[in-house]
Amino acid sequence: MKLIDLSVPLRSGGHEPDPPKIKYIDHKRGALLLGLGAVLCKGRSFFDHVKNFFLYLVGRYRITAKNFPNGMGIALEVIKTDTHAGTHLDAPWHFGPRSCGKPSKTIQEVPLEWCFADGVLLDLTHKKPGEFITADDIKEALERIDYKIKPYDIVLIRTGQDKYLEDRDYLLFQPGMSKEATLFLVEQGVKIIGIDAFGFDRPWVNMFTDYIRTRDKRYLWPAHFAGREKEYCHIEKMGNLDRLPKPFGFKVVCFPVNIERAGAGWVRPVAIIEE
Ligand SMILES: [Zn+2]
Repeated sequence: MKLIDLSVPLRSGGHEPDPPKIKYIDHKRGALLLGLGAVLCKGRSFFDHVKNFFLYLVGRYRITAKNFPNGMGIALEVIKTDTHAGTHLDAPWHFGPRSCGKPSKTIQEVPLEWCFADGVLLDLTHKKPGEFITADDIKEALERIDYKIKPYDIVLIRTGQDKYLEDRDYLLFQPGMSKEATLFLVEQGVKIIGIDAFGFDRPWVNMFTDYIRTRDKRYLWPAHFAGREKEYCHIEKMGNLDRLPKPFGFKVVCFPVNIERAGAGWVRPVAIIEE
């Protein structure tokens, strides 16, 4: 069995509208935090806390790195970011409060069964930045690999855009799914569609320019808003789709982090290939 990581790392900075900030706490500082945390957990009443903190200040209850094995506590990280940074799964709630006339599923409510299914890789690398990926593009890509979609397939749209992750182009240049292409897959029972680009729709600049030119609302996030009509999820910012050795005949697992009432959750999608 071979496992292929289809994620990109969540890291400080990077080309995101609101770049994540990761604060790294090393083993020495981690020891201080553990020591302080232990004192704060000891005792229940306000009086206990005051007494324990006093004993901490005078040194009796103080634990620092030197008190730990090898002079080190634990390392940890504090992350300030949004749920759409790095590889993540967008739940129907992200698209709108209702989907198919029912309350939309949050990331907690996305059935786990949807997130472990057969994968299908569609090559759309010929599509140009700013272009729509149309329903015909999807049909042609399926014809090229001689595959018929079945319900619950996890469809992966390969644009090749993950190669520009370190570049400002990552945010600005990519093709995007059209509403028709999205619904074409969803109407065949697909619940999750992944893309190896910043967004599932075309770049913000293309949507914005077309909207200002026409004042037609259908130019704004059409693939996202298709999820208000038919329930589905998509994965954004995938990576390594070029490493998949075949277009189908593999499984994809993509369980999102369980974040209460959220519209999206970070995910580490993995392809499982039986050899
Ligand atoms: Zn998203």
